[in-house]
Amino acid sequence: MDDGKEVKRPRGVAQLIPGKCIACGARCQATCPKSAIEMNDRGEPIILVDKCIGCRRCVKVCPADALEMYYTEEEKRILAEMAASAKGTEPQEISLEEAAALAEIQEYKGVWVFIEHTEGEPADVSWELIGAGAGLARKLGVELGSVVIGDKVEPLCHECFSYGASRAYYMDAPLFHFYRTEPYYRAVCLLVEKHKPEILLMGATGVGRDLAAAVATRLNTGLTADCTELAIDDGGLLLQTRPAFGGNIMATILTEHARPQMATVRPHVMPLPVKDASRKGEIVRESLPLQEEDIGAKVIKVIPDVRQGAECIDLASADVIVSGGRGMRARDGFNLLQQLADELDGVVGCSRAAVEAGWMPLERQVGQTGKTVRPKIYIACGISGAIQHLAGMQGSDVIIAINQDKEAPIFKAATYGIVGDVFQIVPAVIDRIRNAKEQVGV
Ligand SMILES: Cc1cc2nc3c(=O)[nH]c(=O)nc-3n(C[C@H](O)[C@H](O)[C@H](O)COP(=O)(O)OP(=O)(O)OC[C@H]3O[C@@H](n4cnc5c(N)ncnc54)[C@H](O)[C@@H]3O)c2cc1C
Repeated sequence: MDDGKEVKRPRGVAQLIPGKCIACGARCQATCPKSAIEMNDRGEPIILVDKCIGCRRCVKVCPADALEMYYTEEEKRILAEMAASAKGTEPQEISLEEAAALAEIQEYKGVWVFIEHTEGEPADVSWELIGAGAGLARKLGVELGSVVIGDKVEPLCHECFSYGASRAYYMDAPLFHFYRTEPYYRAVCLLVEKHKPEILLMGATGVGRDLAAAVATRLNTGLTADCTELAIDDGGLLLQTRPAFGGNIMATILTEHARPQMATVRPHVMPLPVKDASRKGEIVRESLPLQEEDIGAKVIKVIPDVRQGAECIDLASADVIVSGGRGMRARDGFNLLQQLADELDGVVGCSRAAVEAGWMPLERQVGQTGKTVRPKIYIACGISGAIQHLAGMQGSDVIIAINQDKEAPIFKAATYGIVGDVFQIVPAVIDRIRNAKEQVGV
């Protein structure tokens, strides 16, 4: 193995373990991408070894563990050496299964971000993830790629480069005009199986949640939804951190034995990276062998979201949020916060306690089960700072907390804290702002 030539991972061929098949209905045959499996009249698979490419899909999908990979003695030796050098152990200390799995994992390289868009209009979460992905790729010493799928959306590839990706895997076809699970998940799976990224990130949006689940299921890999933090451990694994058990603890999850390692992240959890239009990258064009007639779901009509009033405020993209909690005492308390928000060109948000009390609509709730926000200024009025509330606003640039309890946990997250009665402090602040504006003639 030291003659300078790159040694390819032996792929082996699938074989049936006698007596274990339960004739489940030909799942192995359905999953084989090369038609390398025929079924006998007992419903058991016959592997056509000259067609088998050793992809292991049939082995993974078999509910009775009735299939395994067969390797020649020479292939076993190469696998053991490859795995031992990756693990830093002696070849004889590694089982064949472990060696095969390790060698397969070694083939996956690079960090990818799925670029979400609506008819070419990108979702900001995609750029936020490009920023997060760039940090992970730097730590691993690998490339950052993006997945752009759509109908004539090539400009998005260039936008990916300007945010930091060096390569865009691009699929362009009319059947990708609107998001539908089937063509999109098939497209992503085809790209992953061909180019083998070790990490794949998507937004925790309606589209991202749907797509990530379908892709992870098809690829038989792990997926951590709604991560609030991503990092790389010393062994190069993705640390996927998210709130667990109702937000009372933060759980860090690893995908050790499957690839790619998949995670979704909610919008505004990660900062938007700086855009530099002079950055360039490579577009890798691929196509999906799928026709419109093969897709069950059809988009008949797109109905825009026409919510009005309090419901249509875009809390997540506001620069200034004045938020109230149980300490506002009643619905009327929020009129006072609205006055402060108006003076600052901001919007009013709230804690879950205010929603549960019926003072504010759910659309205004900030936190783990509400919106994640990242404004320039977040003013928390009469909010204690429960972990579930902090989960939605702790990425704000400046946090100002007003609370009469000096021990309230919100002060630990705050940039500036004011201990006192919100009904005295907020009117005083509004007066000061109005006076200052009058003096400068605004
Ligand atoms: C699974 C789960 C998900 C959750 N998701 C969310 C979520 O998304 N968002 C969320 O907010 N919560 C969420 N919660 C609820 C969360 O645990 C807290 O119960 C909630 O955030 C408390 O809201 P609060 O701070 O307004 O009320 P409290 O905790 O009751 O705090 C009120 C604060 O107001 C102060 N105060 C009272 N009067 C005044 C005054 N006159 N002047 C100044 N200060 C005053 C008090 O000192 C106190 O600190 C979730 C809980 C669970 C279990």
